[in-house]
Amino acid sequence: MVKNVPELFGSMVFNESVMKERLPKDTYKLMCRVIQEGKRLDRDVANIVANAMKDWALEKGATHFTHWFQPMTGITAEKHDSFIAPTADGHVIMEFSGKELIQGEPDASSFPNGGLRATFEARGYTAWDPTSFAFIKGGTLCIPTAFYSYGGQALDKKTPLLRSMEAINKQAVRVLRLLGDTETKRINVTVGPEQEYFLIDKEVYRERKDLIYCGRTLFGAKPPKGQELDDHYFGTIKPRVKAFMTDLDEELWKMGILSKTEHNEVAPAQHEMAPIFTSVNISCDHNQLTMELMKKVADKHGMVCLLHEKPFAGVNGSGKHDNWSMSTDKDSNLLEPGESPVENTRFLLFLTALIKAVDDYQDMLRISVASAGNDHRLGANEAPPAIMSMFVGEELQAVLDSIESGVEYAGKDRELMKVGVHVLPRFFRDTTDRNRTSPFAFTGNKFEFRMLGSALSIACPNFILNTIVAESLSQFADELEGATDMEAAINALIRRTVIEHKRIIFNGNNYSDEWVVEAESRGLLNLKTTIDALPCYLADKNVATFTKHKVLTAEEMHSRYEILMENYVKCVHIEALTMLNMAKKSILPAVSKYVKGLAETVAAKRAVSTAIDCSVEEKLVAKLSGLCADFYVKIDALEAALVMAEEKAVVGILDEGQCYQAVVLAAMNELREIADVMEEEVDEKAWPFPTYGRLLFSVL
Ligand code: ADP
Ligand code: MG
Repeated sequence: MVKNVPELFGSMVFNESVMKERLPKDTYKLMCRVIQEGKRLDRDVANIVANAMKDWALEKGATHFTHWFQPMTGITAEKHDSFIAPTADGHVIMEFSGKELIQGEPDASSFPNGGLRATFEARGYTAWDPTSFAFIKGGTLCIPTAFYSYGGQALDKKTPLLRSMEAINKQAVRVLRLLGDTETKRINVTVGPEQEYFLIDKEVYRERKDLIYCGRTLFGAKPPKGQELDDHYFGTIKPRVKAFMTDLDEELWKMGILSKTEHNEVAPAQHEMAPIFTSVNISCDHNQLTMELMKKVADKHGMVCLLHEKPFAGVNGSGKHDNWSMSTDKDSNLLEPGESPVENTRFLLFLTALIKAVDDYQDMLRISVASAGNDHRLGANEAPPAIMSMFVGEELQAVLDSIESGVEYAGKDRELMKVGVHVLPRFFRDTTDRNRTSPFAFTGNKFEFRMLGSALSIACPNFILNTIVAESLSQFADELEGATDMEAAINALIRRTVIEHKRIIFNGNNYSDEWVVEAESRGLLNLKTTIDALPCYLADKNVATFTKHKVLTAEEMHSRYEILMENYVKCVHIEALTMLNMAKKSILPAVSKYVKGLAETVAAKRAVSTAIDCSVEEKLVAKLSGLCADFYVKIDALEAALVMAEEKAVVGILDEGQCYQAVVLAAMNELREIADVMEEEVDEKAWPFPTYGRLLFSVL
């Protein structure tokens, strides 16, 4: 059936055009100001909006509403209330008040709060964020909200993001004024997150406890074929996957999500979706919804969508590319170099602010992507290393070099590409080539932050980026506001910033061993694991900056540190328990049974004639019995590692985390190694769970 996409698009969203149509003119105008200028909403107006929203939602078949929020679990939360209100004559009517729209009070004692709240003061509030539109999902009207405690502390991912948008806006406008821009009222951070994921068959998934409990495989021998032929990347999309993508697009479009590009990724069964960029706050909501809908739609198609950063060893894991830029309220991109970047002061000033921010806050950017799952990707030659650096490309590098040396920039004539095929149109070579190995790459008029793991909420990397750039810009503004000769002062500032921070720029191969050595000699941080990175959250300079810009209080930062640490520990703990469960309850019994079968075969053969060759069975019995014995030793070792981690927990969360990272994970790897060897020796039918081959190649 041919779909009318423009009609479908946003049909489940209470967006500006719906408001225009359904709200009284005055109320609509007020709402526009609330959305664009952050004006406060009074109760009367809220009542009118709530009523219009309810009528619209009822027409779309909704019966419930919920405050939809983003607690520190990294996923979204909702508690549904129906619209019903009893009448005196025993009937019900459908009601939704302004109060219910604006504020909710979920009993929130069970969300992670990192010590911010004691359970006896478990009150948590949700407050409507009118800058993100309400929408209907599964018969429920969802109101995007921020979530905070009785004392006003942020308990979610959304609140600091909203605060950081204010911070960067304030500082960017200050700088724009100094450049003579008297018009711009607000700047807008724009983000387009590219989302990678795996699709596997549901039946196969159900037989893997590791995927069910941990989202990633903890055992599994390499299949004969993986990604080495590069035949999956951009390959023809299989019919079942295509049907999924078609359905997914439709669901996303209904939600007003600008799903644009879909293709196969490098690993077998791996795919990607990229939306068209939008304002960071909305982009964040949309990405959360996208992940949720991917899972839902996959289920409808008999598949499971895996969002874990490293579901399978030996093939690429999944990431998320956070394309980030800033534009004025007239949609003028502040990172657009234009025809002549060297003369484009505004571009150079914002570019250098970003260079300075990334260099000054390498640790915070590293933290912004830190998780137990992402540790398996970073530095594994499939994603950038854990070292922050920036790629600017050949042309911009030449511009920065000329600024530094003071030698006039000669300019590079744009080269005509010679492809050598005459029927192809002639085109100019892009001035920024791609560098897929860079963690933070300039791609024409935006930066692409490539260290994010696929499961991560983009709120955290973006509130951190916004805040550190706000800090650079505020230092710039402080310096320039006193200048008598503005042009000279700006030039000097740009030059000094380039010189002071050029160490963060690296245009070469980030996957190479040489880079690790060079980065160290440049004094760049290499915070290899989550546990190495997280303590930096509490560094004085970071607390000073995030509190200065009112994005997080010191208390909130501390709570976030605790939550991230606890999450790491819990995650590895669950993985270790799952491994032990699979090892003891499935692998050992299966191998033992298989060995018994072999031994019985030997006995049966011998009964026929002692002259029959039993050497294969005998060798296998010996080999597998030996491996089982080794395996059992490693099971003991993993159990001992867990006991040790428990003891460390008494000392503190950092000691506990370090133990999980250094001792428990190592014990898990050793256990896996033996299991994977045994898997290769055992009859496929005797092995207790589906092989990598079936997991990766079962969707046709
Ligand atoms: P590339 O292929 O070079 O990565 P694309 O045009 O495919 O570039 O864009 C990748 C992502 O970047 C898309 O989600 C796109 O919408 C987003 N993007 C493009 N321009 C901007 C911008 N100014 N700000 C934020 N994101 C952007
Ligand atoms: Mg890209």
